[in-house]
Amino acid sequence: MERLMTENNKNVDVTIIGGGIIGLFCAYYLSKEGKSVMVLEKGKVKDMCSYGNCGLISPSHALPLNSPALLMKAAVWLFQKDSPFYIKPQLDMKFINWMLGFALNALNKKQIERSMYGRNNLLMESRTLYDELFDSQSINCSWAPSGVHFVFSKEEKFVAYQKNNDKLATIGLKAEPIIGSVLLDKEPALTDHAYGSWFYKMDASLNPGQLLNEIRKKLSFDGVLFEDQCEVKEFKNTNGRITELLTSKGSIKAKDVVLATGAWSPWLESELRLKIPIVPGKGYSITMKRPKLSPICPLIFEEKKVVATPWSDGYRLGGTMEFSGYNTTLDQKRLQTLKNVAAEYLKEPYSDKKSEEWCGWRPMTNDGMPIIDKSPVHKNLYMASGHNMLGLSMAPATGKLITEMVTGQQPHIDSSLYAFERI
Ligand SMILES: Cc1cc2nc3c(=O)[nH]c(=O)nc-3n(C[C@H](O)[C@H](O)[C@H](O)COP(=O)(O)OP(=O)(O)OC[C@H]3O[C@@H](n4cnc5c(N)ncnc54)[C@H](O)[C@@H]3O)c2cc1C
Repeated sequence: MERLMTENNKNVDVTIIGGGIIGLFCAYYLSKEGKSVMVLEKGKVKDMCSYGNCGLISPSHALPLNSPALLMKAAVWLFQKDSPFYIKPQLDMKFINWMLGFALNALNKKQIERSMYGRNNLLMESRTLYDELFDSQSINCSWAPSGVHFVFSKEEKFVAYQKNNDKLATIGLKAEPIIGSVLLDKEPALTDHAYGSWFYKMDASLNPGQLLNEIRKKLSFDGVLFEDQCEVKEFKNTNGRITELLTSKGSIKAKDVVLATGAWSPWLESELRLKIPIVPGKGYSITMKRPKLSPICPLIFEEKKVVATPWSDGYRLGGTMEFSGYNTTLDQKRLQTLKNVAAEYLKEPYSDKKSEEWCGWRPMTNDGMPIIDKSPVHKNLYMASGHNMLGLSMAPATGKLITEMVTGQQPHIDSSLYAFERI
């Protein structure tokens, strides 16, 4: 097989597979530590989950999706045509095992606590690292550390959320409850369908597509190499180390390798002799011009799991969770659900100007935590995948942790919760 970019890649210390937000932040911190880095990416930017997401940086989301309450809600949603949650019936044993694990984790109080601490460490650390990044670099991506409203339409649901708020308060995340006209004064775009909101002032937002472009530009400037339309298909090993990557564009010698392949990670599991229980959780978004009467801060319509994110130069509605395998169909019913939900809560729910419809696969593990660890099989392979609904919010700390593992430094947060061993 022809050797790819022999001249360019012969001195590369670390090869990162996957150019989504996780791969880019791994490249950012590795390069900062003086490592020479190459990123291999098989697809286009718009195919990445990191492109069309809702753009929230969410320390508020420390609680995992797994909970007895969600299991109850999911059972109801399964029978609603326009629900935010859909499972396509499938006889795939891997998926069935994943779902069973998800349900068991939802019923295990200790596991919920573990996930909450694991998620919180990555979320809080990343939030700080984002501040550092935007203070030190000029990155144009509509960064807005403005806080986020969790909006409720029904009083009883708003009151019931107090339980979650109390749990989050134990880790320093306390939201401010805002009710009725006070909320409408703060967010005049809301209709009186909104009863109240829990406001998390630590949350922030940005335009994820712009962030990807800007970081990639900065990394290229700093000497990080990018090879696009380059799919890694096989690995050659010697003495427990990966020595060569066989790609759609030729072969590449490898020193250290980071797998940041998001929802596609299981496609390489037999090649890597690893168990990677990640399934794709499809979500949708619609991006358009900002309506004239736009929300001021991002709004999460909590009962419907739909998000409206305003940016200085745009506006996105996003949400839904569909377990239908590796399927890229843009289901118009789900896109319409985003608009219908926004129309319940907002006076001007969307602008009529041309919009971009998108769907992407969240890399879902069944305990809500990513896998960030050294491979138990290959001494020079590291994994950074499975960030669920929070990859954008967890990316900086993930990149820093991977860098510490590769360079043999003391991890800045306890990494044991993200280990292969647990899955
Ligand atoms: C509708 C929606 C809304 C969301 N909102 C938010 C939010 O507000 N905040 C938040 O924090 N998160 C959010 N998320 C989740 C977030 O988008 C993901 O967790 C995150 O993008 C995962 O990043 P990643 O880099 O792991 O994966 P990706 O961005 O999917 O990148 C993986 C890359 O690896 C490449 N790749 C795979 N296999 C190979 C191979 N063999 N060779 C070469 N390249 C390969 C793929 O082409 C892909 O580009 C949302 C997700 C969705 C769908």
